[in-house]
Amino acid sequence: LEMRIKLLEGGNPRRFPDVKFLNYRTRKRILVTGGAGFVGSHLVDSLMMEGHEVIVVDNFFTGRKRNVEHWIGHENFELIHHDIVNPLFIEVDEIYHLASPASPQHYMFNPVKTIKTNTVGTINMLGLAKRVGARVLIASTSEVYGDPEVHPQPETYWGHVNPIGPRACYDEGKRVSESLSYAYAKQEKVQVRVARIFNTYGPRMHMNDGRVVSNFILQALRNEDITIYGHGDQTRSFQYVSDLVEGLTALMASNYSMPVNIGNPVEYAIKDFAKKIRDLVGGRSRLTFSDAVEDDPQRRKPDITVAQTQLHWQPKVTLQQGLKKTIDFFHKELLRSSHSNRN
Ligand code: NAD
Ligand code: UDP
Ligand code: UDP
Repeated sequence: LEMRIKLLEGGNPRRFPDVKFLNYRTRKRILVTGGAGFVGSHLVDSLMMEGHEVIVVDNFFTGRKRNVEHWIGHENFELIHHDIVNPLFIEVDEIYHLASPASPQHYMFNPVKTIKTNTVGTINMLGLAKRVGARVLIASTSEVYGDPEVHPQPETYWGHVNPIGPRACYDEGKRVSESLSYAYAKQEKVQVRVARIFNTYGPRMHMNDGRVVSNFILQALRNEDITIYGHGDQTRSFQYVSDLVEGLTALMASNYSMPVNIGNPVEYAIKDFAKKIRDLVGGRSRLTFSDAVEDDPQRRKPDITVAQTQLHWQPKVTLQQGLKKTIDFFHKELLRSSHSNRN
């Protein structure tokens, strides 16, 4: 015991980044569900730096304590291990509801659970928002548009989703999540904000989530073949995570309550994206082509007119800048894992 007391007295106090000071009128208590995940942890960093009190709720299915460990012990920060499929009773001013697996590999791992998280979990967050009078932002997705027949996709497009395909647990889960939000808004006067997030990348992405950004960067760094599914003519538009975080906080602060696309409209064919990554990494990887995957959306590009006019938001980070930071992150992660394997 004496030793523990000595350690406590003599131990270096944790050093935290200098967060802004907010007075009680402007400081908010903000819940971030899924806050230990990729997007959530960057959002937490931004809200903490702004001086708010942040409560993260996460069941660590795809999230990691490591993503938020730099805030553990800070007086404005709290981390709760909780599954949002179960009710949650806390007092907050705002809720960013991000809890849900996001990569196809993760959400298809347990489709029933994915549906429960996006339906029952969202009901719980809307019920909480209703009880405490909090504003709630729902992280929806471009997947609500399915394999779109309209290009680029405006928020007014209703989508083209296969309700029983392999992606249905996620796509339909998110569509119900949106329907629930507007039902609570209409019936219970809950203030809702709905962000339709397009493909996002950046540091703290999962190394092994099977998505195109992580697969291609890892393959290029290891000089392995870069695996293109199908002919690689399908397109995606990639947004850097800091742009997304700015879009989410702008949407939360705005008076606009209809769904808003948050994404970067610069569109790439997957085969060109593969070449771009190989060029940036500089390795010797070859491009290989295999069978196309079932129900793979063929084109995806956001129409961001609503975000530009209503939120005065648009992405700032170019693909080149964002990919460099992401490649650097993956490079360090690889060194770190090879180091820990040796020990
Ligand atoms: P992520 O997997 O890194 O983060 C999701 C977090 O939610 C994880 O920390 C996970 O442990 C947690 N979680 C999952 N189920 C939970 C449950 N039942 N209870 C509590 N916590 C739970 O994914 P991400 O990329 O950070 O995505 C965050 C949100 O943004 C998701 O809702 C996702 O659908 C949405 N989104 C992301 C993208 C993208 O490209 N990353 C695109 C569109 C939408
Ligand atoms: N809920 C919650 N936290 C709260 C308030 C409600 O998790 O602070 C849950 C509650 O358990 C319920 C759901 O949210 O299952 C929906 O709440 P609502 O009040 O809309 O429905 P009701 O309780 O009337 O069924
Ligand atoms: N893709 C690919 N090779 C990979 C991983 C993905 O060609 O190793 C393709 C995939 O078929 C899809 C696109 O890249 O057309 C984006 O896939 P991802 O899983 O990253 O996200 P999605 O937008 O489909 O949810």
